[in-house]
Amino acid sequence: MNTPKLFIVIPCYNEQEALPITAGRLTELTDDMIRREIIAPESRVVLVDDGSKDETWRIIAELHGRDARFEGVKLAHNVGHMNALWAGMTLAADRCDCLISIDADLQDDVNAMYGFLEAYQRGADVVFGVRSSRKTDTWFKRTTAQGFYKLMGKLGVEMVYNHADYRLLSKRALEALLSFSEVNMFLRGMVPMLGFRTAEVTYERGERVAGESKYPLKKMIAFAMEGITSLSNKPIRYVLLLGALCALLGLAMAIYVLVAFIQHRTVAGWASMMMSIWLLGGLQLMALGLIGEYVGKIYMETKRRPKFILEEHLK
Ligand code: UDP
Ligand code: MG
Repeated sequence: MNTPKLFIVIPCYNEQEALPITAGRLTELTDDMIRREIIAPESRVVLVDDGSKDETWRIIAELHGRDARFEGVKLAHNVGHMNALWAGMTLAADRCDCLISIDADLQDDVNAMYGFLEAYQRGADVVFGVRSSRKTDTWFKRTTAQGFYKLMGKLGVEMVYNHADYRLLSKRALEALLSFSEVNMFLRGMVPMLGFRTAEVTYERGERVAGESKYPLKKMIAFAMEGITSLSNKPIRYVLLLGALCALLGLAMAIYVLVAFIQHRTVAGWASMMMSIWLLGGLQLMALGLIGEYVGKIYMETKRRPKFILEEHLK
């Protein structure tokens, strides 16, 4: 097989601290790969500025000016990790043979890319980067993340355990992925749907090279909710089940009340009344909220809004 043109896509949101280090490491890495004829000299590193408020874009433009290997994509405003990645993938799709996505903080070992490309050369269309351990994550992040993978599995969403968004896609896998037109995207759950030949490469996950996590708890919860509601209908079904159960209980209650009434055993009934009001009220609100979540998704899908708006592309 001839040497493939590799595009590495990196979403960057307020990454001024990490970017110079990341760029340095990727220069070394791609230099070595080009020298060893693993990738073609026309390979690129696409840095997508997801509407950063700091010096990120200035750094990207500077990198591009110094080395044509670095491409800069500036999005008009912050659209989030997934959409920023999507923007980079869309802009790279017709020029690359294969594409690797990785975070700007290099928590994922760049050396795993050698393994990715080997698997690609052996015919894999999708190569998942899988973390061997989560030692460097906090206890909280580790347990919540693992709980999330388990939950997703139970909800019938096929996901690769401990795989984040560090992966290689061949051109045809990339094109297949880009043909998904949904607005509510959860890439980790979508890529396994593609099929094709897949492979996994394990690596140690490290610390962020610099800067702080751009995923505070609030964003993590939103991300998990997005994952669940955009890929699974099961929660709605569970709510239905819960409702049916409540109705059944209600029926039993009605019989009991009736019997008590006939036997003249009725009391003020404050306790049972209060309990059912709160219990049922809570359940109803929960059910409504969940249904609202899906209705909201349908609303967003019908709008067919663009996933990102391009402001500038340095290539
Ligand atoms: N990111 C982004 N837009 C956002 C938030 C994050 O493009 O709104 C990027 C960020 O720059 C990084 C990647 O998404 O390259 C993952 O973020 P981070 O490393 O902070 O997440 P964590 O590893 O803590 O889950
Ligand atoms: Mg990170």
